[in-house]
Amino acid sequence: MTRKLITDAQNTWCPGCGNFALQHTIKNLLADRENEGKSLDDVVLVSGIGCHAKIADYLNINSFYSLHGRAIPAATGIKLANPALTVICCVGDGDAYAEGLDHLIFAAKRNIDITVIVHNNRVYGLTTGQYTPTSPLGFKGKSTPSGTAEYPINPVELMLASGAGFIARGYTRKMEPLKGLIRAGIDHKGFSFIDVLQICATFFPVTDYYDARVYDLPAPGKPDFEAACALAREWDYNSDARIALGIFFKRVLPTFEERMITRPLEKEVHDRAIREFLETRI
Ligand code: SF4
Repeated sequence: MTRKLITDAQNTWCPGCGNFALQHTIKNLLADRENEGKSLDDVVLVSGIGCHAKIADYLNINSFYSLHGRAIPAATGIKLANPALTVICCVGDGDAYAEGLDHLIFAAKRNIDITVIVHNNRVYGLTTGQYTPTSPLGFKGKSTPSGTAEYPINPVELMLASGAGFIARGYTRKMEPLKGLIRAGIDHKGFSFIDVLQICATFFPVTDYYDARVYDLPAPGKPDFEAACALAREWDYNSDARIALGIFFKRVLPTFEERMITRPLEKEVHDRAIREFLETRI
């Protein structure tokens, strides 16, 4: 019997919130998985704290509602305890790029086989509109009525520098491509990172801004680190440049759990993987 994937919990997201698109994108992806005869019992959703985190209440799937900034270590522990599980980790930009930033960097560095989806609305929505690490310079919110005096970080560039093997960007108003990106991230063997431009209808409603600038990247070819860096810098989360959606970089290396518990890595396999990785940086 097909599982009812949306729970009966009262939904408190604002009308027009991009979290609905992410919720239904993941729901559709899970339904596809079930239709392909795969069990959903081996899928675990981990969330942090923030508006995004309520997705753990709203999707009828195994889930773990963690602490602010601590969703990634919880997901890492779950994957290490049972590497057969598919672990999807939903986090917010305040969650993953501020308090939990170190966990994000180390998960990428370790290449733990989890999929991190950042609901990046570029504002703290749950606490009514303070600026986050990806808010643009001059952003006016509850904590910065005269505008921020900081430039945002560029999470795509940061993930490249951290060694992530799958780096993508999606948009909540492009649900079908977003589903494809999340699926590709889940299918990728190793750490996968998807920064999702999520509309906050109440505190940062930039739909028109994104709609006018987004464009699709071609399917990824041979890994090219320098080209990916150049692409990541095209839009710095502050300028008015065009905004690429799709996969920026993809390469496969042995995962953390393989190194840690499944089997000791043979030197030859390790050396070849490192050589291939370094070739992408030349
Ligand atoms: Fe969504 Fe923003 Fe409302 Fe939070 S505050 S539920 S992110 S629209």
